[in-house]
Amino acid sequence: MTYLTRVITGPIPQSEPLDERQAPNSAGGHSYPVSDWTRLDRFLILGSEGGSYYASERKLTLENAEAVRRCAREDGERAVERIVEIAATGRPPRVGPPIFALAVCAASGNEETRKLARSRLPVVARTATHLMQFVGFSTLMRGWGRGLRSAVRDWYLGKDPEEVAYQVVKYRQREGWTHRDLLRKCHALVEQDNAELREIFQWVTHGDLPTESDATRLILAFEQARKADTGELAELIRKNRMSWEMVPPEKMGEAAVWEALAEDMPLVATLRNLGNLTRHGIIAPMRSQRQVETIGRIGQPGAPQVHPISVIQALLTYRSGRGRRGQNTWEPVAQVVDALDEAFERSFQAAPRTGKRLYLGIDVSGSMSRGSVAGVEGLTPRMAATVMAMAVARREPNHHLAAFADGMAPLDITARDRLLEAMRKTAGFPLRRTDCAQPMLDAMKRNMPVDCFIVLTDSETWYGDIHPMEALRQYRSQTGIPAKLVVVGMVSNGFSIADPEDAGTMDVVGFDSAAPRLIAGFVSDGEPEADLQEEG
Ligand code: CA
Repeated sequence: MTYLTRVITGPIPQSEPLDERQAPNSAGGHSYPVSDWTRLDRFLILGSEGGSYYASERKLTLENAEAVRRCAREDGERAVERIVEIAATGRPPRVGPPIFALAVCAASGNEETRKLARSRLPVVARTATHLMQFVGFSTLMRGWGRGLRSAVRDWYLGKDPEEVAYQVVKYRQREGWTHRDLLRKCHALVEQDNAELREIFQWVTHGDLPTESDATRLILAFEQARKADTGELAELIRKNRMSWEMVPPEKMGEAAVWEALAEDMPLVATLRNLGNLTRHGIIAPMRSQRQVETIGRIGQPGAPQVHPISVIQALLTYRSGRGRRGQNTWEPVAQVVDALDEAFERSFQAAPRTGKRLYLGIDVSGSMSRGSVAGVEGLTPRMAATVMAMAVARREPNHHLAAFADGMAPLDITARDRLLEAMRKTAGFPLRRTDCAQPMLDAMKRNMPVDCFIVLTDSETWYGDIHPMEALRQYRSQTGIPAKLVVVGMVSNGFSIADPEDAGTMDVVGFDSAAPRLIAGFVSDGEPEADLQEEG
């Protein structure tokens, strides 16, 4: 009878639960607890580095680890396959959380789940760094057992010798583990018949130089590089396409070395080293075309996948003119900044244009101003929400971009504005209370036709005198439009303003590179395919 009594009593404020399925959130309001599976997705994509406004990094990570454990217990196969699916399609900005979640499954009480998790290790741990992270987590959880030994052995032996050589030279240590430790622990050497692999392993464990072959060429070059002077080193880099990780640390300050590295530098390495390349004068005004072209390949067919967060991180770092530790400085070149700005949109998985009327509501309340998304220093949830909203808006002609806290906040940006400028503007909002019903109330007040509200938030709503779902229902009945609601979760917490039983709502995870595609699919649900084609 709630709908009848509500007419008499008026709407239920957010300080009280709307119905028995709601639970108190961290802000003193009430939201819907998300399922452990949604939480798993959030954790896989957003991680918990840096914590949130309400929870320390440790608390948030513990909560998420518990949710992963519950998923592994409830349905181990589903949990492992979800981790693999999300990680293998490049949707998370960092592979740490998927590796951690896989280690949780590999330490589960169920033998089948453990086996499955270990068998999927090479898919999730694509580099030796990831492997060492997995070993680090696993040894803390269960120690070295037979299962971990065979998983590590299979990781090496599943690769051809040339790839193994590349991995051992490029990624040499992580989390206190080296290849020597791992190979000794997993007994890969003794059991290996392949002569080339044996020699590579022998070099790792004992330092014995391998005989020269295509597979071992890089190892020999790496050994030579350790004793080479700068000129010889530059030659070795050119001849063997060595990466910056293979350069002796004491030579990293040499411009000639960077010049050699820059000649054949791959996309991802370029993105990470824009500051270094500028500092050494390789990127300079009138001399940035090579790197601008490299950045221009982001999102193009055949180019390696680059996550949108990596583009934002490169943009924030490069534009700041200062490296992470602060000693290295450079003068950013405008064309590089522009190239990054343009690459951002393309770095998301391709999404069709729906043409629907979308209201993009960005939560700029106080809690969205702390913590960092995916561990990117300086990228607060509200800044991340802003550029996420712009990524959707840039594809969709019918949209309204708006920011809200306990009321509407003037958001002086458009989808075509510069990302840095937009982030700066949202970062500067004063701290205010949270009312996630504002986008729906605003649209009602202004009689705005909306097919879908897309609210980018941490769902820690508490201030309003009407619940967001109630506001959505009122909007639907007042306008006759069956408006949908997409909640883009910007923090890996356990709440959503979306009612999981309302078929017109969906939760997606902020900074999932698939988010625009998932949103477009949901918004145009049931529409003929033709309407979804990209124009032109
Ligand atoms: Ca808030």
